[in-house]
Amino acid sequence: MGGPVHLRMDGDVAVIVIDNPPVNAGSLSVRQGLLARLDEVAHGKARATVIIGAGKTFVAGSDIREFGAPLEDPQLPAVIAAIEALPIPVVAAIHGAALGGGFELALGCDARVATRGAVVGLPEVKLGMVPGAGGTQRLVRLVDIARAIELVCSGRRVPGPEALELGLVDAIAEGDLLTAAIAHAKTLGGFKRRLSETPVKAASATTIDAAADKAIRRGRRRPNVLAAIDLLRSADTAPFQTMLDRERAVFQELRGGEDAAALRHLFFAERQAGRVDGLGDVVPGPVRRVNVVGAGTMGAGIAVCLLNSGLAVRLVEQDDPALARGIERVEQTLAADVASGRLDPKESASRRAALGGSVELTDLGDCDVIIEAAFEDLAVKQNLFARLDAVARPDAILATNTSYLDIAAIARATGRPASVLGLHFFSPANVMKLLEVVRTPLTSDEALVTGLKLARQMGKIAIVSGLGEGFIGNRIFSAYRQQCEFMVDEGAAPQEVDAALVEFGFAMGPFAVADLSGLDIAWRTRQRLSATRDPRQRYVTIADRLCEAGRLGRKVGAGWYRYDEQGRRIVDPAVAAIISASASVRPPRAFDAAEIQRRALAAMVNEAQLVVQDGVAQRPADVDVALVHGYGFPAWEGGPLFWHSRQDPDVYAKALGQVEAATGHGFRRAD
Ligand code: NAD
Repeated sequence: MGGPVHLRMDGDVAVIVIDNPPVNAGSLSVRQGLLARLDEVAHGKARATVIIGAGKTFVAGSDIREFGAPLEDPQLPAVIAAIEALPIPVVAAIHGAALGGGFELALGCDARVATRGAVVGLPEVKLGMVPGAGGTQRLVRLVDIARAIELVCSGRRVPGPEALELGLVDAIAEGDLLTAAIAHAKTLGGFKRRLSETPVKAASATTIDAAADKAIRRGRRRPNVLAAIDLLRSADTAPFQTMLDRERAVFQELRGGEDAAALRHLFFAERQAGRVDGLGDVVPGPVRRVNVVGAGTMGAGIAVCLLNSGLAVRLVEQDDPALARGIERVEQTLAADVASGRLDPKESASRRAALGGSVELTDLGDCDVIIEAAFEDLAVKQNLFARLDAVARPDAILATNTSYLDIAAIARATGRPASVLGLHFFSPANVMKLLEVVRTPLTSDEALVTGLKLARQMGKIAIVSGLGEGFIGNRIFSAYRQQCEFMVDEGAAPQEVDAALVEFGFAMGPFAVADLSGLDIAWRTRQRLSATRDPRQRYVTIADRLCEAGRLGRKVGAGWYRYDEQGRRIVDPAVAAIISASASVRPPRAFDAAEIQRRALAAMVNEAQLVVQDGVAQRPADVDVALVHGYGFPAWEGGPLFWHSRQDPDVYAKALGQVEAATGHGFRRAD
């Protein structure tokens, strides 16, 4: 019996095993195999059937590679229809993951038995689609419509125990999964329990509205989120089969749409990011003991990442008061995670217990990796690395979280430059998924793959960057922000620029972002670079004037905006006055949102292309991953380079011409 789906008998129960490594994805051959085996069961003598996955998982999802082209028959709804048509009950035995099409398959069965460690869910919304094989219509027969909206629109993975509580699975297998599923199948007494024949679970209009409002806000009003809500809300307004057909039609249309194409691109880009071609055979070093030097904003956040990944962490500071502040920062973050329900109190306590502190660098002699997050100052870091070199184990890796500094210069302050690399986290470090792993020309392959291993262990999406001012993300973001400052210099108000880019889909506009991170960081960078700046380069002084006026951003209640006591952003006439006093282009002119978007994005795309062209990024897709996960670029546009690939070349060329003219001396156009 060839193919990835096998059938065997266990007494009078037919056991169908899906064996399509690595994750039993529901590809064409799996669908064909399932139909063939179901047909055999229909013609045999079994009194019940169990469907189970071989290896570590049930069907973890559909084969996403198939989604880019017309789907080949038989499609999943036909398989599920065959399960429903069987006169005997079918039980899904779930371990590992049953997600997307995998969970829809399970929902098509008469019962579901899962292991405690299993996860189930419908993540299609995250790929720009809606479930398309009955997922929305069967879900509302297990949970009420409000809960179904939450589950489908978040696309979250529901762990086994919660799935049992919600009714998504019927039982948790305490011992062997197959044994439990067979036993469960026998308790059904030969009867079918098709969800398609079960009534929809209603909820009050208020709870449904509340769930829908929240989902729409979180889902940024994307068309697939609106469509999913509509399908769930209207489940009871037409016969089951009519609703199934409607769901399938919506699914097919969205699958072929732009959001879905962009999100699929990112899906594959994220899986490829952090892989370095040619280094597959290099063995990483251990990452069991990882300590952090510098317990400020970033150091504390990095410590939380490490604690969350199950490591014991020691924070090292300059003196006791600074150490106490750092430890308090970690405690506050853990407490906030408990308050928001993300972390259970017991787990929080055990993470806190895994945190130690010290004011002696000599305590770092036992580490595999040391991550430095001290002040952003080359001399400070060089001095620190020379001392770390003296105390660290000879095979330990030394990493810096610097945002801009020359890591090779830091490495040369040690006697082990091959073991020095950058681990550039984003703030807040325990929340942001992106991690730039920066290699210098001196960094060894072993050190690089060790850094990548640590990134994976922390659940980060790592991209590899070469050296260069701002590495990948900050360099591209700087070019974008600079173009936005030029537009303000020419007459666009900061709030107009922000609004236009939020309308495009950025989580925040560049000036609101600057206020949030603090204007002083960029100010210090400009001061550092001022000595070497070519006087022919266009330089906008507005941000310097804001800083000189003490407007360092949100932390002091004023920056590009003013902030009230609740932290709300308010347009401030004082900023308009500073702009009109120091703008270099007169008279100011008006900008519309489309022009702002075109120029800001052309500047971003051009720099992104340069980053690839200069070899700082390994591949274009890495840049897309960085901007989406580190800088709030809208995921449904796929990142700047994917977005660019879908634009009209003439419109882009014109916008880039404007960027070139506005930037003037020193502008570099990508090949
Ligand atoms: P911070 O000022 O909040 O913290 C720095 C900490 O390092 C302070 O607590 C200080 O006491 C400690 N420190 C300084 N010298 C030390 C030494 N010799 N030994 C031990 N501790 C020492 O700064 P931060 O915002 O956390 O930034 C730290 C690093 O992370 C910088 O290199 C910065 O560029 C980088 N970074 C910052 C961000 C951000 O958004 N803040 C993002 C990415 C990277």
